[in-house]
Amino acid sequence: MTKFIIVTGGVLSGLGKGVTSAALDLLLKSKGVSVDICKVDPYLNVDPGLMNPYQHGEVWVTKDGYEADLDFGHYERFLDVEITRDHNITTGRVYLSVLEKERKGEYLGQTVQVIPHITDEIKKQLQRIARINNSEVLLVEIGGTTGDIESMPFLEALRQMRMELGKENVLFVHVTLVPTLEAVGEQKTKPTQHSVKELRGLGIQPDIIVCRTKKPLKEDTRAKISLFCDVGKLDVISNHDVDFVYEVPLIMEEQGVGDNILAKLNLRERRRDLKKWRDFINKVKGIDKKVNIAVVGKYVELRDSYISIVEALRHAAWSMGRDVNILWFEAEDFEENKEKLKELSDVQGILVPGGFGKRGSEGKILAIKYARENNVPYLGICFGFQLAVVEFARNVMKKDKANSAELDHDTPYPVIDILPEQKDIEQLGGTMRLGEIPLKIEEGTIAYRIYSKRNVRERHRHRYEVNPEFIEEIEKYGIKFSARSDKGRRMEILELPGHIHFIATQFHPEFKSRPLKPAPVFFSFVKAVIEKGEENV
Ligand code: GLN
Repeated sequence: MTKFIIVTGGVLSGLGKGVTSAALDLLLKSKGVSVDICKVDPYLNVDPGLMNPYQHGEVWVTKDGYEADLDFGHYERFLDVEITRDHNITTGRVYLSVLEKERKGEYLGQTVQVIPHITDEIKKQLQRIARINNSEVLLVEIGGTTGDIESMPFLEALRQMRMELGKENVLFVHVTLVPTLEAVGEQKTKPTQHSVKELRGLGIQPDIIVCRTKKPLKEDTRAKISLFCDVGKLDVISNHDVDFVYEVPLIMEEQGVGDNILAKLNLRERRRDLKKWRDFINKVKGIDKKVNIAVVGKYVELRDSYISIVEALRHAAWSMGRDVNILWFEAEDFEENKEKLKELSDVQGILVPGGFGKRGSEGKILAIKYARENNVPYLGICFGFQLAVVEFARNVMKKDKANSAELDHDTPYPVIDILPEQKDIEQLGGTMRLGEIPLKIEEGTIAYRIYSKRNVRERHRHRYEVNPEFIEEIEKYGIKFSARSDKGRRMEILELPGHIHFIATQFHPEFKSRPLKPAPVFFSFVKAVIEKGEENV
């Protein structure tokens, strides 16, 4: 039978509960326990695909084409696994399922209520997730903050689960904030006390309290939390700020949290292999060279919008003994002030990530033109791929009105057009070309050198593509489409022979990048960037 670890959050959102969850699961995995991980999002959206990146950070795409919360990215990166769509429960999904049953008459005349119908459905969905991989432990991260009205039915369902399955099968971890009053340097425990009180009011006593703090938790702070929140001193874990998120498992392991959880769940350690992880952190900490890379986007104020891109750049750079310094450019600024483009002379590489809609698109095109004309390594991802085609059509093929049909319906030269199967879709949620799709790479190309194989699979999320009518003409002018999919119909990678490194992909290679296994496309880009020049940190 699968045991459950429930991770809740207190005090405020954005505490890094996703990282903490992934790190705890990694620790158990490193002790030979088979683990799985899933997320409960208490919002009403059926999935996060349509949520504004400004509010929710990036949308993560799973292998099987689910648009997930960015915490899925932490899970996949830390655990080096591929998580599927069935590992997410949202309030929307739970209600959808209950309402469908109600319409089918499956409740046989009963009054359908939050308790027991919604809570039963939640328990059922969690047990279903546990059966997917039948791992010994399933960690369940509960989105939102304890006390939110939205999360009540979930917490109630979990309280029932603990009673039904027993303490040794359901463990509660509460992640809270311990702020420091700067003037006196004192760590304050009151918010934690309040949030635990809130949880206890719902009938849940946490077994372990993980405290997010600036500096390591002081002994007297730990003692105070232990006393007021009714947990052992060893059950209070300091999760203080670190330079690299990948250090989090190590600082928690130093406090024995892995063994502690195993003991509480009646599980035995079977091996111990954090060495590779530890070596990796030590290597990263010793890095003293960096490269400057520009990321030109439209949500650059909220860094979480591009979190996977940043991580993928780091993984690649770290593997070559470098760190990356990312210079963020708001694409619209280039449109308003062309002088601003000169600032790109400080960088050794330019990346245009995925995106949607008109705002900022002309600025991105200007940045791409800069990279192409000045022989600066370029990596374009999805929108950054499509706009590279537009830029090329306008400035090399001299079709100055060329555009993507997404940005200009009436362009006489729609080099990027809507995918034929997308034309008649009216519903927006979950309907893009999504998830892993096999590609074929042409031998003898740069792309082939990057991957060293012909067949690869990469994750997608788009509605538009290179218009098949223009492929031949574009290639005549010098762009090479070196990877294709769907029997050669869809363009997947473009390259510009003769340029130091001008590569763009219709797919999102960042979703397959792992700290110890950088994505090949990012690796080749950063390698070119390093060759272009570097600075000492
Ligand atoms: N807006 C473009 C499309 O829908 C690109 C999408 C993206 O960058 N993820 O095809």
